[in-house]
Amino acid sequence: MKVFGYGTEAADKDLVSVVFERKDPRAGEIAFKVTYCGVCHSDLHQVRNDWRNTTYPCVPGHEVVGEVTAVGDGVTRFAVGDVIGVGCMVNSCLDCEKCDAGVENYCQGPKGFTATYNGPAKARGENTYGGYTSHFVVREEFAITVPNGYDPRYVGPVLCAGITVYSPMKHWGLEAGKTLGVVGVGGLGHMAIKLGKALGARVVALTRSEGKTDEILKMGADEVVISSDKEQMKSARQSLDLMINTIPVPHDINPYVGLMKSDSTIVIVGNLTNFENVVPGPLVFNRIGIAGSLIGGIKETQEVLDLCAEHDITPSIKMVKMQDINDVLSTLEEGNDGDFRHVIDMQSLHE
Ligand code: NDP
Ligand code: ZN
Repeated sequence: MKVFGYGTEAADKDLVSVVFERKDPRAGEIAFKVTYCGVCHSDLHQVRNDWRNTTYPCVPGHEVVGEVTAVGDGVTRFAVGDVIGVGCMVNSCLDCEKCDAGVENYCQGPKGFTATYNGPAKARGENTYGGYTSHFVVREEFAITVPNGYDPRYVGPVLCAGITVYSPMKHWGLEAGKTLGVVGVGGLGHMAIKLGKALGARVVALTRSEGKTDEILKMGADEVVISSDKEQMKSARQSLDLMINTIPVPHDINPYVGLMKSDSTIVIVGNLTNFENVVPGPLVFNRIGIAGSLIGGIKETQEVLDLCAEHDITPSIKMVKMQDINDVLSTLEEGNDGDFRHVIDMQSLHE
């Protein structure tokens, strides 16, 4: 099938409109018309080759939602007309200990999981192209069911931003009586505030951006700490059981360690590049762990979307047009200005 989308040929080039072919759905696969796609900061990292692993052309997008147009033989869970979602993975070995345990995101197969974009695809090793496209094909195991009544515009940001912060909350046992710190309130961070509250925790948001304070409180945060304000940081000392750090770039983590209680964990989800000069003393004396976490498995992704539908949790989104994607990426690059998650309306690609 002929597919229209937006992608780039190089790290220093804008995204431009592209046309390419996707294979019609084979056995076990589903084809769908993309209606909306969220814009993740990872899209920007990948486009700019920040992780030194980008294959070009790069067509990003891993917060994808749309309407099923065709199903291959043997597909049982979806039918034409259904609304479905796809997050950050489109395949994995489905045969290792991790896949069996429902955490395909940590697939131990020789090729690991296949990312929704920047693949490479399992069978032939070609590059995968993401959701900034008019149509998508995915195997059934990696498609997420959109609960009845949940507005499709909100689905995408749950499938990456939502699951990426929900998974560590579940893994490290966040619950009522505990306090969560959320560092960086953008796409991931704002979902962490909403989901942390849904799990009954006290939530402290740590932001550089004083201008976001009112919005952050409206999301349900119990407290906002301006990270550059030494007094405010001091008053939050040793108050957190779990911290989710979404800052996308290398930064000094030591001031955040001081906010952690004894036996607590800092989970890094944002910066993948390096942390310089981490001072181990405070970690050692308080048995504080620094850990990392990558998205979440398909089962847990379905769980968090169902939870959002059940509790009426919706991401704070700004709808944008596909043609405006380069401006949106520049906004993320400069540091989020209070539009917590951008979602592309794919309508123009269908005209
Ligand atoms: P956003 O750009 O939406 O939000 C990041 C937030 O971090 C900003 O809003 C800002 O919050 C803060 N921030 C931005 N720049 C800086 C800076 N230079 N110094 C300090 N703080 C800064 O990004 P996303 O939420 O979409 O993604 C965040 C990170 O998480 C990205 O690196 C992304 O690649 C990664 N990611 C990781 C995943 C995983 O599985 N581990 C999955 C998805 C994304 P404020 O103004 O409040 O301080
Ligand atoms: Zn993402």
